[in-house]
Amino acid sequence: MRTIDYRSDTKSLPTPEMRRAMAEAELGDDVAGEDPTVNLLEAMAAEMLGKEAAVLVSSGTQGNLVSILAQCQRGDEIIIGDKSHIFNAESGGASVLGGVALHPLPNDDRGMIDPAAVEKAIRPDDVHYAPTRMIALENTHNAAGGAVLTPEDTASVADVAHANGIAFHVDGARIFNAAVQLETPVSELVKDADTVSFCLSKGLGAPVGSLLCGTNEVIQEARRWRQMLGSGMRQAGIIAACGIVALENVDRLAEDHSNARRLASGLAEIPGIEIEPERLPTNLLFFEVTNDRSSEMARRLGERGVKVGERAGTSWRLATHHEITPDDIDYTLAAFQAVFSA
Ligand SMILES: *Cc1c(COP(=O)(O)O)cnc(C)c1O
Repeated sequence: MRTIDYRSDTKSLPTPEMRRAMAEAELGDDVAGEDPTVNLLEAMAAEMLGKEAAVLVSSGTQGNLVSILAQCQRGDEIIIGDKSHIFNAESGGASVLGGVALHPLPNDDRGMIDPAAVEKAIRPDDVHYAPTRMIALENTHNAAGGAVLTPEDTASVADVAHANGIAFHVDGARIFNAAVQLETPVSELVKDADTVSFCLSKGLGAPVGSLLCGTNEVIQEARRWRQMLGSGMRQAGIIAACGIVALENVDRLAEDHSNARRLASGLAEIPGIEIEPERLPTNLLFFEVTNDRSSEMARRLGERGVKVGERAGTSWRLATHHEITPDDIDYTLAAFQAVFSA
């Protein structure tokens, strides 16, 4: 029986090309800056994102954290979306390790934050307040169903940050999905960001790693924090080799998006499944089960090799990635039909 894993794009395994690249990678001590493969990956990432420099980190969480640690002091505050990954799913690291307070503002259903609300939330210079030092957006927005922010959306918040002398960060874990979806160079999408983090290990298919991109100065500071956090890795070219293959193949994310759209339109026809058509922009697909099948659904799909994970309620998230083919989508739709008609 085949297995098709929709639980997350992080579940995807490295491609054969990545495994070959790993085996053949030229290596050195990256803590000393001597790993040529890491250096190449960092240079590629900086160039693609349109930034001066980039640093390889162990995860998206660490990329966001070292950006915060490099740019904020203890007692500072960050304005952040209330449905953002940094606010909800990074173990409170900014506060625990940086002594930085998180000031959440509402994310709308595209993951956007109202720039006027940002302006109002910036703290005045007064002893009562923690100084606002950073503002962050997330693109694509995970909890908003992989929704995409345009360069104009990003600029509207970045402009408020910069007019007030505040750093602007983009959590771009899936920024390449946004770029492919908008058919816009990724550098254009993040041109207003002081720092941007992105994951190699999600839709891009690499086994490990993320990059933080920004100015030489901030990235140098981020390297010191990375070292302190215990992620100074030695022959990290083993990891970076996969990242290089990933960055050479970003255009293939379009296949994941078209697979997600085809899956969504098939699911939308099944009685008991409700999908808002505007909620299928990239490789994440959210739907609601409106009949009593939700609690049984995952187990019964699992019996057919279709993994959708565990959810307490009736809202589901599926992710497409490079291991899922158009033929898998047909198989999956047949499995859903069987589960919902039986
Ligand atoms: C997954 C994710 C992260 C964290 O990445 P990890 O590599 O899992 O630590 C950060 N931000 C967003 C929006 C994500 O989806």
